[in-house]
Amino acid sequence: MVGGGIGGLSAAFALSRLGLKVRVLERAKEFGEVGAGLQIAPNCTRILDDYGLLEEAKSRGVVPDRMVMRDAVDGEELTALDLRDLEREYGFPYMVIHRSDLHALLLEACRDAGVELCTEQGVVAYGQDADKATVTTESGTVHEAAVVIAADGLHSVARTLLVDDEPVSSAYVAYRGTVAVAEVDRPIDLSEVVVYVGPRCHFVHYGLRGGALLNQVAVFQSPKALAGQEDWGTPDELDAAFAGTTDIVRQSLPHMWRDKWWRMYDRDPIDTWVQGRIALLGDAAHPPLQYMAQGAIMAIEDGWVLAEHAKRLRGPDGGIDWAATLSAYEAVRPEHCRRVLTTAREWGELWHLDGFERVQRNALLRARDIDDYSFTDWIYGPTALFPEDEPPMFEPVPLSSADRITDEPVHMTA
Ligand SMILES: Cc1cc2nc3c(=O)[nH]c(=O)nc-3n(C[C@H](O)[C@H](O)[C@H](O)COP(=O)(O)OP(=O)(O)OC[C@H]3O[C@@H](n4cnc5c(N)ncnc54)[C@H](O)[C@@H]3O)c2cc1C
Repeated sequence: MVGGGIGGLSAAFALSRLGLKVRVLERAKEFGEVGAGLQIAPNCTRILDDYGLLEEAKSRGVVPDRMVMRDAVDGEELTALDLRDLEREYGFPYMVIHRSDLHALLLEACRDAGVELCTEQGVVAYGQDADKATVTTESGTVHEAAVVIAADGLHSVARTLLVDDEPVSSAYVAYRGTVAVAEVDRPIDLSEVVVYVGPRCHFVHYGLRGGALLNQVAVFQSPKALAGQEDWGTPDELDAAFAGTTDIVRQSLPHMWRDKWWRMYDRDPIDTWVQGRIALLGDAAHPPLQYMAQGAIMAIEDGWVLAEHAKRLRGPDGGIDWAATLSAYEAVRPEHCRRVLTTAREWGELWHLDGFERVQRNALLRARDIDDYSFTDWIYGPTALFPEDEPPMFEPVPLSSADRITDEPVHMTA
């Protein structure tokens, strides 16, 4: 396994449960995660449950009651998901957790399962022959294995074996910030995950660590990025982007970390993730824009699918038919992830609408039946192991259909 992020560790754990010898090669000096909260939807809590890790994950995170979408300009509620009902619908909870807590949980699980965890092992080259795959690290050490799974993130070295592409800049940037709830000087309902959607910006907050911490994410389109300037996403742009938003959003901005920010890149979907004995997993295969909150989840699903096929394709002598395993993995995961990647781009556009289109979007969201799960079945249902199990996508609703809600044209309001 190359890369010890959430994708690499969860896949290492899944494979170690089959009694396989797994070695994780991580480039950094220590295993760890930078960043703030992660939303973990039922398609992932189902897998954490299978791994026997769900109860511990829940105890380290928060299981909120509602997810609410509000307009960032006037603060009005647009639509919501009843997360307790969602749990009944899909059989598993929607939870939020600090990414370092989830990463630590997976790291402990790997240690307990006997996974060999190696740091300062930046992989620079890959090779393979009929019997084995090899990787070479920065220091010249060569490791060999029956298969190499590359979970080396957005700037994956392994990906260059399969495709000559570059990360795609969205010109959006994310600021994050976790603060002790005791220090928050505005009313906060920690039973809710809230997203405020606004013109070219959005703001998310929810509780972490049993409600002791508040996680906040502020995302906006950078004018400097659009103008082709190098130093884009700076704090002055953050303040300007949210100047027209409702009080509660603006009051949150001083609590963001202002000394670091994350420029938002994804990559175009690809169908080929496997070359012989080497396979991509997680962001290396499918880095998304984060609007569906499914990046880490897809990575965890990848590892689960891989291990399920390895288990199925194990011979009587315990040996695994890796060619068939990787082929079954590649038959099902790229299409699912393509759907998430493209939907995330569209979802982001919908969140960030301005003018008349914002009014149309708000009318459609307000009219949505909160018991309607037809928009989430394709994603929160059980992870498909075979292409024929992949559920159908939802029917997109055109913005222009906002007119039909009231039988008269939706008008621009102030
Ligand atoms: C603002 C924001 C919010 C998000 N919110 C959510 C959310 O709510 N829910 C969700 O599911 N996802 C979310 N995501 C996406 C999620 O964070 C990522 O998709 C996920 O962390 C990817 O995990 P990974 O293990 O594939 O890659 P990474 O986390 O990038 O891990 C890659 C690992 O490989 C190591 N590495 C890199 N190169 C090498 C090399 N050459 N040799 C050895 N090791 C190497 C790195 O050091 C790192 O440890 C969000 C992302 C952002 C930016």
